[in-house]
Amino acid sequence: MLIGIELGDPLENLPLAEEMLTLCPYDVVIGAIHTDGVADYYFGDYSQTPEQELHESLVRYFNRLCEMAEWGKFDVLAHITYPLRYIIGDYGRAVNLDRYQQLIDRLFYTIIRKGIALEVNTSGLRQKIASTLPDEALLRRYYGLGGRLVTIGSDAHRLRDMAFGLSETEEMLRKIGFTELVWFDQRKMQKMPL
Ligand SMILES: [Zn+2]
Repeated sequence: MLIGIELGDPLENLPLAEEMLTLCPYDVVIGAIHTDGVADYYFGDYSQTPEQELHESLVRYFNRLCEMAEWGKFDVLAHITYPLRYIIGDYGRAVNLDRYQQLIDRLFYTIIRKGIALEVNTSGLRQKIASTLPDEALLRRYYGLGGRLVTIGSDAHRLRDMAFGLSETEEMLRKIGFTELVWFDQRKMQKMPL
């Protein structure tokens, strides 16, 4: 059994976030952003939100991801397309991720440079968005930029979702070209063949 924490929105209070990391001998620390600085996407209703407002929210979100990656005191970057679970999945709004490609590339370059692993979160496979977070296209982009450190997370909030979608996600990663998965023991990266 390994001990981990998902550190949500550490930028809100960096001294507190850093103190949290000293309170327990974590094996793995996951860095996550759930908000654009205004509210958690989980609580949003995007059915009527004007397109421009959605766009500005996503720009803020991806900028926050970049800022957190620059801070970098975590091992795994969580569910980078988290807002889409709600905006696309729950509210059926269209989002063209090409508009954020520069920001996403900057994010990928930062985690590659810092040796932070990218989480492939399988929760979307059991939700309306019906794809991993991030999806195959973004994972191909990450791979194309030189990213090789991936980990799979089922984001199980209950026992029956543990390890959900692992084999089909592994298959997708192999198809892209990944040959290894990473995991962490006492915050040291370990690798296993995929
Ligand atoms: Zn999360």
